[in-house]
Amino acid sequence: MAEGWGRILRRPTVECLFNVEVGRDVTVQELLDHHHAVVWAAGSSDDRKLGIGGEDLPGVVSAREFVAWYNGHPDFAHQTFDLSGKRAVIIGNGNVALDVARALAQSPTVYERTSMSNLALKALRASAIEEVQVIGRRGQAHAAYGTAELIALSRLEGVDLLADPQEVTVTDEELAAATADSESKPFERRRAVVDAASRREQSSMRRVLLRFRQTPVELLGIDAVKAIVLTDPAGTRETVETSLVIRSVGFRGRPAPDLPFDEAAGVIPNEAGRITDPNTGLPLPGLYCSGWIKRGSTGVIGTNRVDSEETVNSLLEDVREDRVPQPTGTPEQLIYIVRSRGLNVVDAAGWHRIDEAEKAGGQATGRDRLKFLSFERMVQEARDS
Ligand code: NAP
Repeated sequence: MAEGWGRILRRPTVECLFNVEVGRDVTVQELLDHHHAVVWAAGSSDDRKLGIGGEDLPGVVSAREFVAWYNGHPDFAHQTFDLSGKRAVIIGNGNVALDVARALAQSPTVYERTSMSNLALKALRASAIEEVQVIGRRGQAHAAYGTAELIALSRLEGVDLLADPQEVTVTDEELAAATADSESKPFERRRAVVDAASRREQSSMRRVLLRFRQTPVELLGIDAVKAIVLTDPAGTRETVETSLVIRSVGFRGRPAPDLPFDEAAGVIPNEAGRITDPNTGLPLPGLYCSGWIKRGSTGVIGTNRVDSEETVNSLLEDVREDRVPQPTGTPEQLIYIVRSRGLNVVDAAGWHRIDEAEKAGGQATGRDRLKFLSFERMVQEARDS
């Protein structure tokens, strides 16, 4: 919970109804009946699948659940992961894969002052993992990670960043493509880090091994995953033993209740943030979207800022041009309706109470914050104090 949020929520023009689910507790139509516009900004809460055999075996998990686990998201905080093996394998080499590799490889003492979930900290302290393999299906010129994130991974204390010299080669074609894209991602800097990794000798207990041109073809195991089979462009197969496989191949949006959805792309169809009718391609009056649900799971926080500005500009233009529908009720009436449904609604004041209590818990234990790991506990704090 960032400080900036706190300030925004205190504004008198902002009304918050947290712990309310659209589709279950209130409909999109009800929101629209009481406002001029509704902006759907729910992100991408499903993950992409690999589509290979063994993907449903215990021990094969998504990066989404793993990250949510160590961040203490109440839906995932009590999940358990098998950290008893010496090797973990992460499929995909985007920034999420690097985040997960860092969490698995780095000494948990680094996180002791942060807001990482207590349960995750305890599990990571007991982890036996010594090697984390990060599997890229293409060459390093096409790796999805960012330069800063890769450099940060190469500088972890007590962790060697390694790569196989035979896998880090770059063809002329790949170099040309990567150089053309170098304005957003300077390839030479990323290449220098990977090439250094390919020359490094292991000297620490723990290592992150960057793999390239390795396509996962099968996950092996009976009761739980025991190994992953990879193949390179020459068709050479390699079986890598592991008891934890983390799929980090991007996210997918989840269909929003009562709103159109593009199943193939996993996003809401839209034009500059105006939600469109898939049959006519025309904007649906008063309905907008923003963020990953609008354009897919790409880009960093700054990208979302630009993205939301585009949506807000579309909305303001529609207001100026009188293209938004007239609501039949007021926002205050809707708040009354929602509150009368017997829900545990948390408002901005409740949010601040949760925020303060988590920070106080952290202060008492020398940490940034001590997160509540269940919705019940949050609701209790929001209501009680
Ligand atoms: P991503 O950047 O799209 O990376 C997905 C990775 O999965 C790619 O390496 C992709 O390889 C691979 N992949 C996809 N399908 C695959 C398959 N079937 N088999 C093997 N590999 C496959 O996604 P992400 O890491 O989830 O990140 C999502 C977004 O959040 C990104 O824009 C990222 O930059 C951002 N993010 C940023 C930060 C940060 O700023 N520090 C932190 C976390 C996330 P191909 O390229 O070959 O398709």
